[in-house]
Amino acid sequence: MAGRIPENILEDILGRIDIVEIISGYIPLKKAGANFKANCPFHHEKTASFMVSPERQIYHCFGCGESGNAFKFLMRHERMEFPEAVEMLAKKTGVILPDQDKPELARAASLSNQLYKINELAVNYYENNLYAASAAAAIKYLLDRGVKPETIKDFHLGLATASWEGLINYLRSKNISLALMEQAGLVLPKDSGGYYDRFRNRIIFPIFDMRSRMLGFGARVMDNSLPKYINSPETPIYTKGKNLFGLNLSKDFIRDADCAVIVEGYLDFMIPYQEGVKNIVASQGTALTLEQIKLLKRYTYNVVMVYDGDTAGEIATLRSLDILIDEGINVRVFPLPKGMDPDTLVRSKGINALKDKIENAVSFFDYKLNVLKSRHNIKDAQGKAKIASEMLLTINKFDNAILRGEYTKKLSEEMDVPEQHILEELHKLKPAVLAPVAQSINLGVKLPEINPAEKQLIKFMLEEVELIDKVMQQLSPSDFSDARTAKIVSVMHELVLQGKNIEPSVLMNYLNEDEASQLVCETMFMPPLTDQGREKAVNDCILRIKVQRLKSRREHLHIQIKSAQSLGDEDKLNSLIQEFHNLIKKGD
Ligand SMILES: [Zn+2]
Repeated sequence: MAGRIPENILEDILGRIDIVEIISGYIPLKKAGANFKANCPFHHEKTASFMVSPERQIYHCFGCGESGNAFKFLMRHERMEFPEAVEMLAKKTGVILPDQDKPELARAASLSNQLYKINELAVNYYENNLYAASAAAAIKYLLDRGVKPETIKDFHLGLATASWEGLINYLRSKNISLALMEQAGLVLPKDSGGYYDRFRNRIIFPIFDMRSRMLGFGARVMDNSLPKYINSPETPIYTKGKNLFGLNLSKDFIRDADCAVIVEGYLDFMIPYQEGVKNIVASQGTALTLEQIKLLKRYTYNVVMVYDGDTAGEIATLRSLDILIDEGINVRVFPLPKGMDPDTLVRSKGINALKDKIENAVSFFDYKLNVLKSRHNIKDAQGKAKIASEMLLTINKFDNAILRGEYTKKLSEEMDVPEQHILEELHKLKPAVLAPVAQSINLGVKLPEINPAEKQLIKFMLEEVELIDKVMQQLSPSDFSDARTAKIVSVMHELVLQGKNIEPSVLMNYLNEDEASQLVCETMFMPPLTDQGREKAVNDCILRIKVQRLKSRREHLHIQIKSAQSLGDEDKLNSLIQEFHNLIKKGD
């Protein structure tokens, strides 16, 4: 569907439009709870069954099944081709398509320059606050956290005071309009009209890009209140996950050392950096994205990840591993003990402790195997199968056949499984591309009704990205009985592994089949569950899918047994019966 228009541009456009505004330009929409509804423009009806979700930025008709995102609506309703629909919405949102006219580029460039300028003014303001007499507590907080005075200066750390309009008044005195302040993400509109400062009562960490331009801000509380950090929203100059904190300072050191140490947060970066580990960058909280890795690749192909040992850190590390390996990067990992950050490690044990850990970081292989061993029982056949299949997903990402061979050999030794079996499993994996659908559903035949548990589980995963990892530890796409649900699940999992956005409206760009897209829309309009019932419902869905899978395997075996009986094939019959018993023993 994407054609020659890059995915990030499509996402950019989708991120800036409002589907409600677009559709209501063509048909009248009425508010209905959290959604809007109308008589469907695509089929004749008397009662409204056409729904639009402002939250999800999709539409769906319960009468005729027509559904999609804003691009799709224009294509269907205005009979536009995909590129026309993209062009129209790009114009509307000011997103510049790769081959567009120069005047618009110039306009965008001047807006960006104004936003950099405003951010610089804001840095001045926050920095001045920090050196005011009233800010002694903030300075003390930073010194107590081990940040040296010269680091505070070098990184232009600042303070947002408790004032609701401190920054607004300062920027006004510099003749900056409120509209621009809002575009820079520095102020927020009040319900009662007017604006207030976004950051209050927080330490301010300015975020620089590679060219030391100010993109935005991270802001941390000085006590234990939550949220610990708030950050600038996405603006025309700042996109989450496209920048590596500190790279403007550390890039030469990274090139010289031919290695980059990757940590998560601002302080994780600053404390080691000031103590002498200078070939370091911070991913700013999330798993590494492809864009971040591409930035790094300009300086080195060697990476050591130093991430928190908690579950979130583990998930972020595993996700990052696959993308790094995909990009041909040699990666090692040092997982920190639970509850420890690089900055606490340096402060409690000294910089040499960190250097030592970096030196002794383990290979991706050892790291991932250890994580999997802690999740599955390596002594048990099912556990072995699960561990092997997860390991092979990563091993399969190596282009180099010799490396793949070495790792499969190592895996067979570690798991005490014949290498032949590991190789057989490896060969089953298709080349590591997007959207490998494993199921052997016959698409020519009318599709059976989808198991409601599968639909419900997809809805849960779309609503809560963190669930995807959890679910994929227990199920694989081929456990889904329908080609459409299997496809959706495998694309979602792949996108998450690549650190990509899986908003439903974006996910559709990867699901070319109408039927799969339609299903995504349909699930999003299914009634929501309360938070209390949620966890149980998720587990129920997983269980029901497993049960169904066992049931269909049993039925399949049953047919095979009957046919072996009628053919009088004793050997086959015995092995099938054995398999049948094993299946029942494992039980549902
Ligand atoms: Zn309809």
